[in-house]
Amino acid sequence: MKVFISVDMEGISGLVRWADVSSSGIDFARNRLRMTEDANAAIDGAFAAGATEVVVEENHGVEDLCVLDMDAIDRRCTVIRGAGRPGATTMAGLDATTDVVFLVGHHARAGSFPGVMAHTISYGGFRLVTLHGRPVGEPDFFAIRAGELGVPVGLVTGDQVLAEQALALCPTAEAVVVKQALGNQSAICIPPPRARDMIRSGAITAVSRAIEGVLVPFSGISAPYVFEVLLRKPAGEAMQANLRQLDCFELAEADRVIVTAPDMAIGFRRVAYLGYADRPGVTRH
Ligand SMILES: [Zn+2]
Repeated sequence: MKVFISVDMEGISGLVRWADVSSSGIDFARNRLRMTEDANAAIDGAFAAGATEVVVEENHGVEDLCVLDMDAIDRRCTVIRGAGRPGATTMAGLDATTDVVFLVGHHARAGSFPGVMAHTISYGGFRLVTLHGRPVGEPDFFAIRAGELGVPVGLVTGDQVLAEQALALCPTAEAVVVKQALGNQSAICIPPPRARDMIRSGAITAVSRAIEGVLVPFSGISAPYVFEVLLRKPAGEAMQANLRQLDCFELAEADRVIVTAPDMAIGFRRVAYLGYADRPGVTRH
């Protein structure tokens, strides 16, 4: 029973503001530990319920930050982190040998209100991301990619908006609500130690369901995928020049890019690329 855990930071218990998840924030060192402790609660629950292998992968500020505290993470897992990962960037450890996916510390999609730090992939870059005309968030990318591999999502943790959006995609998953979003940077929080008890219980439920075979992998959206990314700012000269060289991107309007992809690993890479496609001469993605 192999569990893949994607750990993001915006949905970690107790964290509500961008300053909480930015390396310049006053509590960042402590918040890294909180992120690690939420992950540990999921890891511990997974092993308690019968997992034999747990792979953890960082999903926060991937290119610039390594956030999990490696000395504090549960010693039974492995951790995938760092820049330039193969495959779907933040899903490098997700493959068909995985039995169940957990999304720990994840957040609502771009455009959500309330929704603690709601965004899709690039807060600064993207106003909205749609797939076949429907707004999507990071859980959509994970659920669809996992579904392509025949793997179900079993657990999500974050605020109530993340939970609602993820359960709409993956109704057999367990959702653990560690905070009630009041806006985009405020929430009613429960103390993190209590939240971790809930995450551990949720992980036990999720792995138990995986063992029983009652988790259903996502299906229902088929490739090729067509995304629209609405940019916060019109594409500048460098981005326009970069996108002209790439067949899979079409600048439909100054602030609207159409992206196509044959599968969701590539789809994630291509959408994520638009978060840094304004760097002159950068066409690798
Ligand atoms: Zn994040």
